[in-house]
Amino acid sequence: MMELEQLNWSQPLDDFTAFQVTRGNVNARNPYSQYNLCDYTGDDALRVLNARIELCMQLGIDLDHLVMPRQVHGTKVTIIDDNYFQADITQQEDMLNGVDALITNLPDVCIGVNTADCVNIALCDPSTGVIAIAHAGWKGAAAHIARKTVEAMTKIGASLRHIHAVMGASICHDCFEVGDEVVDAFAKQKHDVSRIMKRNATTGKAHIDLRKACTLDMHAAGINPDYITEMGTCTRCQPDRYFSARRLGIDSGRTFTGILRHH
Ligand SMILES: [Zn+2]
Repeated sequence: MMELEQLNWSQPLDDFTAFQVTRGNVNARNPYSQYNLCDYTGDDALRVLNARIELCMQLGIDLDHLVMPRQVHGTKVTIIDDNYFQADITQQEDMLNGVDALITNLPDVCIGVNTADCVNIALCDPSTGVIAIAHAGWKGAAAHIARKTVEAMTKIGASLRHIHAVMGASICHDCFEVGDEVVDAFAKQKHDVSRIMKRNATTGKAHIDLRKACTLDMHAAGINPDYITEMGTCTRCQPDRYFSARRLGIDSGRTFTGILRHH
């Protein structure tokens, strides 16, 4: 059975489930094993479909109510509403292409992202039922996808002071060694680099804390800091539970992180 690891809000919010799918049985020779739901990183299409079906059965939702974008490390946010569900498959694919965050206020619709080291951010506003999911690698984090997702939530009616956020397994500060061009990208886009960067004393290499960057971005957007949770688990430190592009290469599975509101 697929393990859905719960992501915990800062307080119990029973109507909102956020989770990540753990890898299950890992075969060291197969970088996609066991549960990969991402269909554009080279895995067998039938295996991906089977994993999606299994997830929907566990969630008790229809297969077409599992919605995930084709991510590009950008900052485009798409709203999943009745227009999406009335569109045909080709139109739906267009709507999801080049998108790194999704928002909906529909119940029993699981929106999610696929990540392997990048930050996965689930958000909800229990006062209005608006939920969101975002993928933030260093490019997206630097380009403020966390703040832009929050802003998009408020545009469809979410109440800023009620928004909760949780970040699941993603690369930790120690593991995320980067070149100085990455540090420069954060500085150029007005991040306080002194709060998210440290240098390894031995190698002199920069390390960025991606989750902290997203947390500070959400503070700047106006979310109550008490409502932001980091699970603290690292994909690279625990490749037996989560996919890690730094461990497995980019031709590998992705960890699916989803959120849904129960009707
Ligand atoms: Zn780590």
